[in-house]
Amino acid sequence: MIPAAVDAARAALADPAAVAARWRADHDGPVIAHLPYDVPAELILAAGALPVAVFPPGAEQAQAHLQGWICSPARRFLAAARQGELAWADGLVIPQICDTMRGLKGLWQFLQEPAFLESYNLPRISRASARPYFASELSRLRDRIQGFTGRTADDGRLRAAIALCNAVRERTALLFQRRVLGQISNLDYYTLVRASYVLPPEEMLALLGGMDVEDAAVSKPPAVPVVVSGQLMEPLAVAGLLDQCGLSVVGDDLVDGERAWRTVAEGGDPLAALAERTLNAPPCAVKNGPVTRETYLAALVAERGAQGVIFLHFRNCEMENLGYPGTRDHLERLGIPTLYLETQWGTAAAGAVVTRLEAFREMLEGC
Ligand code: SF4
Repeated sequence: MIPAAVDAARAALADPAAVAARWRADHDGPVIAHLPYDVPAELILAAGALPVAVFPPGAEQAQAHLQGWICSPARRFLAAARQGELAWADGLVIPQICDTMRGLKGLWQFLQEPAFLESYNLPRISRASARPYFASELSRLRDRIQGFTGRTADDGRLRAAIALCNAVRERTALLFQRRVLGQISNLDYYTLVRASYVLPPEEMLALLGGMDVEDAAVSKPPAVPVVVSGQLMEPLAVAGLLDQCGLSVVGDDLVDGERAWRTVAEGGDPLAALAERTLNAPPCAVKNGPVTRETYLAALVAERGAQGVIFLHFRNCEMENLGYPGTRDHLERLGIPTLYLETQWGTAAAGAVVTRLEAFREMLEGC
């Protein structure tokens, strides 16, 4: 069951155009891409469109249009748009999470003039005054998407979309339990979670159906438990390197990790519920949470019995760079060993990363 699901997930990530084509064969709604951060996909689904996150394979970057110090995700996204790799999308939502993303939207509009290009302005902080602001921002986004698709995303349709996405999230959470039990590798787990941002929810549910926690014996050799902190498990190959080096991810704060399987409350005001999901999300580089990031990570380490924290940061990410020293120092003051890995979109210096991961595991085994 799992190998077939992982193969299907890999195929979807490698060829989102095929996913979009399958969707169009059965639906008459558009496909709306979004950059891979916390975007409320339910708003897109409820308006009759398919939400698909952008994970362009490869490492080609938009050298001619962005300065050398701009982070590799922004460069890769823009290059993908320029080279026609996102031609499968009818529209695009760009979450405004940092100055780079704000600049990217204007440049994208200038270079490509997409039929639909919309900002999503999520709050940086979770205090009380953020709630009314964020509710109005979600309402504005809903109006803009409805205007593009021509379908009304009323509360009933939004509730149905939330229930469907929650069903996927609940299955993904079960998958994580299997991950912690060693029944599924780091690489397979992150491949499947990432695919949940690309495949239609019904297809994802069909893939994950039948994968109950009890139905597989533990077959993996024991590994050292760690927490991974960053934005994305990117390059995805790093998850395979963690497997190779005997490190088992038992917790993370990644968009294509634990952030993916937090459910939205059902039954009340659906826009308010979407807002609460984001406002109560774990802290990250671009948004504060109910507690500070260092407090969150320290608690995660204790709760999951992890032996250390691996920071997986994009080179030149101004947001991660700002918070990293304080977070690292806090964890190390608590006696939690940390390792810093800097990556670029689509590129892992596998040999060097393996050497550092192996040294970290040996250090943790000696603790
Ligand atoms: S990697 Fe950092 S700087 Fe680049 S888009 Fe993401 S948050 Fe912004």
